[in-house]
Amino acid sequence: MSKVELNQIVKTFPDGTTALDQINLKVKDRELLVILGPSGCGKSTLLRVVAGLEKTTHGRVFINEEDVTEHEPGSRDIAMVFQNYALYPHMTVYKNIAYGLKNRNISRNEIASRVKEVAESLQIKDYLDRKPSQLSGGQRQRVAMGRAIARNPKVFLFDEPLSNLDAKLRVQVRLEISRLQSELGVTSLYVTHDQVEAMTLGHRLVLMNEGRIEQIGEPLNIYEKPNTLFVAGFIGSPPMNLLPGEMNEKGEFTLGSVVKIQLKDYQNHSEKIIFGIRPEHFLTDGSGSMLGNFIVENFERQGADNYLYGKMEGYSTQMTIRVKGDETHSIGSVLKLSYEKNKVHFFDSETGLRVNP
Ligand code: ATP
Repeated sequence: MSKVELNQIVKTFPDGTTALDQINLKVKDRELLVILGPSGCGKSTLLRVVAGLEKTTHGRVFINEEDVTEHEPGSRDIAMVFQNYALYPHMTVYKNIAYGLKNRNISRNEIASRVKEVAESLQIKDYLDRKPSQLSGGQRQRVAMGRAIARNPKVFLFDEPLSNLDAKLRVQVRLEISRLQSELGVTSLYVTHDQVEAMTLGHRLVLMNEGRIEQIGEPLNIYEKPNTLFVAGFIGSPPMNLLPGEMNEKGEFTLGSVVKIQLKDYQNHSEKIIFGIRPEHFLTDGSGSMLGNFIVENFERQGADNYLYGKMEGYSTQMTIRVKGDETHSIGSVLKLSYEKNKVHFFDSETGLRVNP
């Protein structure tokens, strides 16, 4: 069993940059927790704090309820997998995998059988005598994972392990990580800035912004119910459309001349409200709640789906609409755009907080 707990972690670097600001986080036993966020939000620093490669300014790190804040990285029983593989170039694949087992009082025979077992499970047993330079990127990343797995650590830390791989390989290795993590049941923290990885790999997802946690939850729950404007704009590709509207003192939200919606949870919010709707929740056949006239400025075929880009009449906000692959629209055309009533979001433009309809 392995749990990781971060308690009020603050990390301020000597130059005054605060990379982590009051982080509280519990990673459950066997969980794969994905940390997602824009560049510079503190993802890698968080991972390095767990690994012990970075000292905290404030707060405590626990592994299995043991306070490891002052422990050296080598004594935390953690394995890290990086984007640049970090393999020893002069060693063979066998030696790279076996390296973490040295100095552990494990016999030569035991090491050999452990390396063989790991190499088989990762399908790299034919390359054990090769050097890393004789392998493809995907194979190198498998060796890096093999080295981590061989040690049988309490916790895996992944720092963007797929970002050096091409799109096809990324899918393959992603599925492999998912399979291995669930088979081995090793508690894992996985840093990425890739939305698809975050949505598909994470049992839970942590979205970070400027050193703080914006939201934690199951990926789909976050997608369906973002708590803040930041989360709404960050999760989802293409992103959610965000249109500014007004709310009166009775909680009646208006957007243009057509949209009028009574909001329940309005008392504590400002009158500047943002209306959010995902590209896939529009309707072009007039069957939903009416939004108004949409002017098509661009049209893109992507195979299974097509995308319309343009603006609502009288509005300057650029919008993206997803329609089925067999639906076509010409540039310059105007369509009556409606939306799925239960799929819209509202946010206070001043606080960024969600307003429930
Ligand atoms: P990316 O996705 O680009 O890798 P990240 O979310 O992993 O970014 P971190 O590398 O954790 O971000 O950095 C968080 C913040 O801390 C950034 O503003 C970064 O510039 C700053 N930072 C990181 N290391 C140091 C350091 N040694 N000294 C000063 N500031 C640092």
